[in-house]
Amino acid sequence: MNAPNKSGWKPAMEAAEDGLHNGPQTVTGNRALMLEEPLIFEIGKAEVTGVDLPKIDPAVPTRLAGLHRDDAIGLVGLTEPETVRHYTRLSRQNYGIDLGFFPLGSCTMKHNPRLNEKMARLPGFADIHPLAPQNSVQGALQVIDELATWLKTLTGMPAVAMSPKAGAHGELCGILAIRAAHTAAGNPREVVLVPESAHGTNPATAAFAGYRVEDIPATPEGRVNVAELKARLGPDVAAVMITNPNTCGLFEKDFREIADAVHEAGGYVYCDGANFNAIVGRVRPGDLGVDAMHINLHKTFSTPHGGGGPGSGPVVFSEALAPYAPLPFVKQDDAGEYYLVEEEHREERGPTFGRMTAFHGQMGMFTRALTYMLSHGADGLKQVAEDAVLNANYILRSLEDLLHAPFADSGPCMHEALFGDKDFGGDLSTLDLAKALIDEGYHPMTVYFPLVVHGAMLVEPTETESKASIDQFIEAFRSVAQRALDGDQSMKQAPYYAPRRRLDETAAARKPKLAWSEPEE
Ligand SMILES: *Cc1c(COP(=O)(O)O)cnc(C)c1O
Repeated sequence: MNAPNKSGWKPAMEAAEDGLHNGPQTVTGNRALMLEEPLIFEIGKAEVTGVDLPKIDPAVPTRLAGLHRDDAIGLVGLTEPETVRHYTRLSRQNYGIDLGFFPLGSCTMKHNPRLNEKMARLPGFADIHPLAPQNSVQGALQVIDELATWLKTLTGMPAVAMSPKAGAHGELCGILAIRAAHTAAGNPREVVLVPESAHGTNPATAAFAGYRVEDIPATPEGRVNVAELKARLGPDVAAVMITNPNTCGLFEKDFREIADAVHEAGGYVYCDGANFNAIVGRVRPGDLGVDAMHINLHKTFSTPHGGGGPGSGPVVFSEALAPYAPLPFVKQDDAGEYYLVEEEHREERGPTFGRMTAFHGQMGMFTRALTYMLSHGADGLKQVAEDAVLNANYILRSLEDLLHAPFADSGPCMHEALFGDKDFGGDLSTLDLAKALIDEGYHPMTVYFPLVVHGAMLVEPTETESKASIDQFIEAFRSVAQRALDGDQSMKQAPYYAPRRRLDETAAARKPKLAWSEPEE
């Protein structure tokens, strides 16, 4: 039986108090297979440990040079079976792509083929060390090189930096290369232009790299206002950062025209390529005049992500920026041997801005992404984009009669469908709809982003969902949308069925409690 819950959380049976369940109040707080699980500090004991360790004889000198601990470490212990149950129970309260549809827009949560995992776990990839002699890890270097070739081919760009470890890290890599190129030409310039609908990481990156960020407004149809952008160009503008397809789920049709104007004014074009899965195999960003673009391997080419990692954000570069790319990069010598070009290879590298990470990037993600590419092939990757776009348009057209779809008249959407909270009844908001969707067994879509749409709901199905699973989602989404439009006040308390109910998300973000302390009785 579980220990009483001391941390102030109300058990899931709280829902019964709302009169929604007519079942009995259980002693344990469990509801059949939905088990309550207290924090490890509430069930473990400091005196308990799951392993037998020999008693330490204080008279025997240690080799810790006096750095050994004299007081208790303050961690609780569990036996092995208790440990297994604790974490298994917690994992059952988690939602993941292996459990159900994960429509989180912009995040591209798609099924991760098991083959990828099998390849990433091969000892020749999983058990090597970044400092291993290069002649002993030729296969791993070849994987990096082959993946680089695929990325350059798919984007139509001549160079790629493989080491950045996430999309935002890749953005920084691209902007630092742009800064280095401008500096080499005599002036780093001052301003980076970012459209209103940009992902939050774009302005953050530009500011972090020392630039002043200026907004470019969107047109009523959800695309960059080209006239306003052109009017703002000048000798102080270092770069524009544009997401394409953009975060309203639309393709920026005037990208080439924008790129030409930016180049004309001596600036560079950064493309946020997080949404590359919508155009992979169909559009080559190099043909659109892009100078630098990160690719989220952990979105476009499957590979699991979430909760902050792991990620991988290689950056492709144009001819103009390639010399400033970070080290290292993989090359092959005349004898066919792979090696890493580093700082000391002065003849082989350009005026690089430096490096992004200690080593060579996320090997596990490289292996997964290359496996995904090779198992799809060139034709399969094209189909990825087509199916992702088809699925999103199916969702858009299945909901536009009910929910406000601000850009439904701007033509087909790309890989994600965008809705707003217009006409919701009473004081109901997007948040209430999202919470009600949890009761239907779905992870909510992305909410309140992009900022250009009131109460935005960004739904991304990805190509790996079947029609049956999308149909079921549409049915559930239509039902909660109708309740929101009708002003169903019970939604204010949703979710009713989740292990935890409404949380104070603002307090959790602003005043996180990072250490457990004994609660006051
Ligand atoms: C995910 C995403 C990013 C940031 O990528 P991370 O890997 O999370 O750092 C940037 N831009 C867009 C449009 C994204 O969807």
